[in-house]
Amino acid sequence: MYRSHNCGELRETHQQAEVTLSGWVQTVRDKGFVVWADLRDRYGITQLIFDEERSSKEIMEIAKSLGREFVIQVKGTVIERTSKNPNIPTGNVEVLVSEIKILNKSLVPPFTIEDQTDGGEDIRMKFRYLDIRRNPVKNNLIFRHKVAIEVRKYLSDQGFIEVETPYLIKSTPEGARDFVVPSRMNEGQFYALPQSPQTFKQLLMVGGMDKYFQIVKCFRDEDLRADRQPEFTQIDCEMAFVEQEDILNVFEGLTRHLLQEIKGVSIDKFPRMTYDDAMKKYGNDKPDIRFGMEFGELNPIAQHKDFGIFNEAELVVGIAIPGGAAYTRKEIDALVDWVRRPQIGAKGMVYAKYNDDGSFKSSVDKFYDQEDLAKWAEATGAKTGDLICVLSGDTNKTRTQLSALRMEIAQRLGLRKKDEFAPLWVIDFPLLELDEETGHYHAMHHPFTSPKPGQLELLDTDPGAVKANAYDLVLNGNEIGGGSIRIHDKQMQSTMFRHLGFSPEEAKAQFGFLMDAFQYGAPPHGGLAFGLDRLVAILGGQETIRDFIAFPKNNSGRDVMIDAPARIDDLQLKELHLKLDL
Ligand code: ASP
Repeated sequence: MYRSHNCGELRETHQQAEVTLSGWVQTVRDKGFVVWADLRDRYGITQLIFDEERSSKEIMEIAKSLGREFVIQVKGTVIERTSKNPNIPTGNVEVLVSEIKILNKSLVPPFTIEDQTDGGEDIRMKFRYLDIRRNPVKNNLIFRHKVAIEVRKYLSDQGFIEVETPYLIKSTPEGARDFVVPSRMNEGQFYALPQSPQTFKQLLMVGGMDKYFQIVKCFRDEDLRADRQPEFTQIDCEMAFVEQEDILNVFEGLTRHLLQEIKGVSIDKFPRMTYDDAMKKYGNDKPDIRFGMEFGELNPIAQHKDFGIFNEAELVVGIAIPGGAAYTRKEIDALVDWVRRPQIGAKGMVYAKYNDDGSFKSSVDKFYDQEDLAKWAEATGAKTGDLICVLSGDTNKTRTQLSALRMEIAQRLGLRKKDEFAPLWVIDFPLLELDEETGHYHAMHHPFTSPKPGQLELLDTDPGAVKANAYDLVLNGNEIGGGSIRIHDKQMQSTMFRHLGFSPEEAKAQFGFLMDAFQYGAPPHGGLAFGLDRLVAILGGQETIRDFIAFPKNNSGRDVMIDAPARIDDLQLKELHLKLDL
């Protein structure tokens, strides 16, 4: 038996007990006649004591030879500590060692295995198995487990069945490139790894499963913007005989359950906002509504005044920064520089200070009098002491820029509080999105999303205006989930593929199986998927999903620990009938 107790278990009530512990040596303090070692495992740390008077010579020798991260097994007696450590649960006791066995030695680890480590991100990723021994990473993995268990419990209680779907499939368009896998047995042919189990979950509905879920890996080969992973995990769900309202209710229930169970936070009904409103008020389809700073559109009050830049703009829009009137000239200039950075891309920023005495001072005083500026204040909800920041230009771009400014300011002002949770449903998304580069429309969600009733005719005349039965769940400014009511009719699905630029042959080749299935009694259905990694990170009050993934990839999609991706040998290539052309 390697252990009678774990390293987080012993208390004063265990005094005089003979125990066996196993774990890793965190630290050794050698005072000559007495040696202390901290023994660590997943559950905690227990102090071991070896002393010349009570321990044998051999044991003292072994104790003095211990290095960091050695794996040892000890037997000994639990005794009261003379100097207690109130910071750890086992801090009142120590184990006087009577037997010790080194189970495995360790090289000196490349960074300290402590909560605050001296190891940078790169080295910790390379030695991720050592990083996982640290509390912050270990606790995140345990936290993730708890969330996953709660998800399974809740959905199972609601009658959902977890069904596995295959990984070696055919392309499912979710807006990214596919990772592909060559098939040895089918020369020249490739599987695609699922960007999501979308088509399979729909087929499960045709198969009568009624309520499906799966905690499942998805794979998307996209340029890895900050904090994306090429493989990530979804809580994927689908339901038959449902309308949008049914789905929102179930998954609002799930989210509420998680907030309650995991965070002890109870939240009433989640607000809902249309996509159009979200864009208008926050310039963003995943607004963080933990704080205000709503957009105020200024076109009617700021245009036609002689200020050419505004007159030429499609949109003139501002926000009020709380307390911003106190900013110095230098601070305001820094804000202007911030919005002009290439990542944000604004040409400039107009501002107006709403002074405490009720007067205004703006960067465009030449064109706007106090009365005009009072209207700006009204439109942006500015109060005395605030700074009104105004951007202008193309509607979409300007909204995106102002949204970035809003988030930046909120961050700086500490308004994005970790322990505050503000969920929101964004509904009525457009069905299609114009790709500015190609001039083609593509599905905003995915091609299986149904248009809102009665909007089908618009597809021919004004495709960009068609609204979808699609919804996203937003939490604290992050999209944590999204889904839609699906098309379940072969004819309508063909029409949709046609609008998305698929020829009938292409649609048949790629999705014939789904359209065929629709001919055999497909029930009305819909669903959604939550991004588990992001959800866990937000619930955990942290920023990066990487911190909640045991073995994440870096920004170039590499696993630096196992060194993947990697070349394969010529024989493997040959078997796959592949030749490299580099
Ligand atoms: N498959 C979709 C996604 O991955 C979710 C859904 O429509 O259910 O975003």
